[in-house]
Amino acid sequence: MSRNPISGATVVAGVCGSPVRHSLSPLLHNAWLEAGGVDGVYVAFAPAADRFAKFVEGLRGGVVRGLNVTLPFKEAALIAADRVSTRAQAAAAANLLIFEADGTIVADNTDGLGLLGAFAAQAPGFEAKAGPVLVLGAGGAARGAAMALAEAGCPQVRLLNRTLSRAEAVADAIAGAKAWRTEDMAGALNGVVAVINATSAGVANDGLLDVPMKRAPPTAVAMDMVYTPLVTPFLARAKAAGLRTVDGLEMLIRQAAPSFEAFYGVSPDPKADVRALAIAALEARA
Ligand code: NAP
Repeated sequence: MSRNPISGATVVAGVCGSPVRHSLSPLLHNAWLEAGGVDGVYVAFAPAADRFAKFVEGLRGGVVRGLNVTLPFKEAALIAADRVSTRAQAAAAANLLIFEADGTIVADNTDGLGLLGAFAAQAPGFEAKAGPVLVLGAGGAARGAAMALAEAGCPQVRLLNRTLSRAEAVADAIAGAKAWRTEDMAGALNGVVAVINATSAGVANDGLLDVPMKRAPPTAVAMDMVYTPLVTPFLARAKAAGLRTVDGLEMLIRQAAPSFEAFYGVSPDPKADVRALAIAALEARA
């Protein structure tokens, strides 16, 4: 692949996290930039955890056009901003900071768009308003997902988390949401249109991801926000039970697209097959 030349007007954006070396965002954004012939570049930043606020402050005024924000800075990004979008406020986390030329820092959250976009792409016909959705987890990702689902008309978001009090706190903030005890997993699957893993648990999951998928209706969709491996044990379990599945890589791509538009002012060029590129990168790492 040949890179677009860097000019005096190159728009700089990036991703900020710690660690950030594993991030697929530079691959996605630079592929879109190159395919669209956009004069921009996208790099990764890993400030020390206690330097995040100072790092962001130093970018005020548009030195860098914007940042995607990943773990562990999503909550700190909200605090660093002067203006916070409704959806970032609702999710209590930001994955996007835009540095306006007048010095304003704006926080947004595109994870909800990413989640719903991934369902639309990989589970066509899925309707959040058609029934309850079970969300496993109660961190920033679960909260953002629950908010997006509620906004899309889901009549009941069920939150089930290792630490019940955290699920209760998220449920309290969302109209119609309900916290479920881990021991009531089978009941929580009753009548769902989707079950979503929004925990950071992998194979060692304290039993939370050993979901009895057969208890979900056969028309339900299973989605895992984790995408390493692409077919996680959670998704493999769902496939074995005959459920349709949605993977976390598709969510990553779909949350990146609106960030790209905010940074560079144009839509991602569909000529770049970023999914294939990301899968190749994940396979090379395995
Ligand atoms: P977080 O705020 O750290 O929350 C982690 C959640 O996982 C908590 O609910 C925690 O439960 C639970 N958990 C952790 N270890 C567990 C274990 N061993 N057994 C059971 N539960 C466990 O993280 P987050 O920001 O919400 O992110 C969650 C995951 O989503 C991460 O893997 C992240 O990479 C992924 N994500 C993916 C995308 C995407 O585009 N694909 C976007 C956003 C996030 P407790 O409350 O009990 O500690």
